[in-house]
This record gives sequence, C-alpha cells and structure tokens, in this order.
Amino acid sequence: MRALVLDQPGPLRDTPAPLATRDVRDPEPGTGELLLRVSACAVCRTDLQLAEGDLRPRRSPSILGHQVVGRVLAVGPEVAGWSLGERAAVGWLAGTCGTCPTCADGRENLCEVAVFTGWDRDGGFAERVVVRADFALRVPAGFDDLAAAPLLCGGVIGYRALLVSGIRPGGHLGLYGFGSSASLAIQVARHWGCEVHVATRSPRERDRALRLGAASVGEYDEPPPTPLDAAVTFAPAGSVVAAALRAVGRGGTVAINAIHLDGIPAFPYDDLWWERGLRSVANYTRRDAREFLDLAARIPVRTAVEVLPLEAGVDALRRLAEGTLEGTAVLVP
Ligand SMILES: [Zn+2]
Ligand SMILES: [Zn+2]
Repeated sequence: MRALVLDQPGPLRDTPAPLATRDVRDPEPGTGELLLRVSACAVCRTDLQLAEGDLRPRRSPSILGHQVVGRVLAVGPEVAGWSLGERAAVGWLAGTCGTCPTCADGRENLCEVAVFTGWDRDGGFAERVVVRADFALRVPAGFDDLAAAPLLCGGVIGYRALLVSGIRPGGHLGLYGFGSSASLAIQVARHWGCEVHVATRSPRERDRALRLGAASVGEYDEPPPTPLDAAVTFAPAGSVVAAALRAVGRGGTVAINAIHLDGIPAFPYDDLWWERGLRSVANYTRRDAREFLDLAARIPVRTAVEVLPLEAGVDALRRLAEGTLEGTAVLVP
C-alpha cells in the first residue's frame, strides 16, 4: 500500500523532509483487530509534533495520522460487532489495559500502558490501517467521511477539555487559540448557551471566531469584557496559559488542551488564589468519543476541511505549522 512514512523525526523545512510517501507492506489484522481501507485522515497538531520530534518517537519507521475514517476490509479472529464494509473510525486512543485502577474507574485516558495511534501503532496516513476492534469508533450517519475526520481528535479532545474546564451551560468561557479543535469546541459551547470569548494572535482566526458565535475576541493578553468562569487553552505556548489564568474569575479553571507545551512562565500566586485551577487534558476515553460524536450530530457541528491527496501530507503539515490552512487538512489516499 501507499503510505506517508516517518523515518526519523526532524524539522519539516529540511530537505528531504522527515516523512515521504512510499510503498510499504499491507498490514494484516490480528486477533481482535479490524483492517480498514482508509477514505480520509485528518491532520492534527500532534502529528506535527511527532513528525518534528517534540514528542519522542516510540518506534521507527512509523505512519502518523489518528483521525481516520474508513471501511472494514477484513475482520480478525475474535471480533464481535463489526462486519465487512461497515464504516469505522480510528482516533488517538488505540488501546488500554482495561484492568488498572484508572481503567477500572472510567478514566482509561490515564492508563499507564495506553497506546496511541501514530505513536505506538501505525496510523491512517496510508491506504490501509489496522485498529483494535474495541477501540474503533462509529461515526454518526449525518457526517460524510471528510467532514467526520476532524471530529475524531480535535473534536473529541476539545469536548473533553470543555468537561475538564468545568464550564456550565450559560457560563462565560474563554478559548485561547483558535485552530481546528477550538472551532469545534465553540460550537458545543454555543449549543450549551455559553458566552464565549476567543483570544488569538491571528486576525483571521478572530474573524472566524466571530462568525462562529464568539461574543468577544481579542489578543492573548487583552482581558475579556467580564472575568471568565472557565477557559481552555489550545495554543501550544505556556505564556498563553498564564494569560488565560489571569482572565478567569474566582473558582475558575483553565484546562490546557496540549500534549506538548513549552514552559509556563512564573506567575504571581494571586493569579491562582481564590481557588482558580490549572488542569491539563490528557487523551480521551471512549465514552468521551461516543458522547461527543452523538452531540456533534445533534447540534450539528460543522467542520471546515481542506482536502489534499496523501502525497501532499508534508505540505499539509508545513502549512499547519505556518497557520496557512483553510480549515482542517484532510488527506485522502
Ligand atoms: Zn489501564
Ligand atoms: Zn490529535
């Protein structure tokens, strides 16, 4: 099959790039697994961080891509509930142990031996991908494959970030950074009747936020019109976390939606005093994914995508880094 293969992570501006499209051996489903024919795979900032080595590689070569929609091409032994030709999706969470204390109490996102698509297992920047059947997701019928792909990580983890922030219906919410994940989270927050303040450096993103129902927009350091009940930071910069913390009111929580972040600058204790909170958001549970996909279909959440062939994957990652994509890049093999 054709696949976009990452050999050694490195700067994307290098020539040759750290990833290249080439033929590799077709994967085969093992016990409990499905083989999918990939129809679409959306690009996520985590793919960029894996390609450039911000996240240390766990195996090489590897195939990135963890927002995959496809059709079941083969069913491995001991799989129940999936049949040939069915639509199935693959997200970031590729497997957990199912028995550790966090798995047992419904927090499988924190499992210490969890494995991740595109990091521990090959992902969907390819014509085919293998997924553990019990971690494959079902996509609501209202979304076609291209529209569904960006929901699978940006959407699901953005939803978890809203839950972690503790925002309540009708509350004042801040979103810091306004890429793919935030553009989905704002639609959920508006559906909950929240008043949303969006902070971003990009004038284009501020315009998009207003079109999606933001009540106010500004620079990262500009205080919102009223103190926020909760905020979610999407920008991968520690200084933005400190700015969001200054913008939340008493008892407010800042949820950091980032798997990798540079250092958070020192801040005065007064910024945290009055039971303000700072929490990271790690991965998602399958329950988060099911809840979000159901909700996304009911709202219905709209995704903006830029469709590109698999061969343009490196270009898509470069443009994600530069912030010049029109919507979420979705690679089609
Ligand atoms: Zn576990
Ligand atoms: Zn992701």
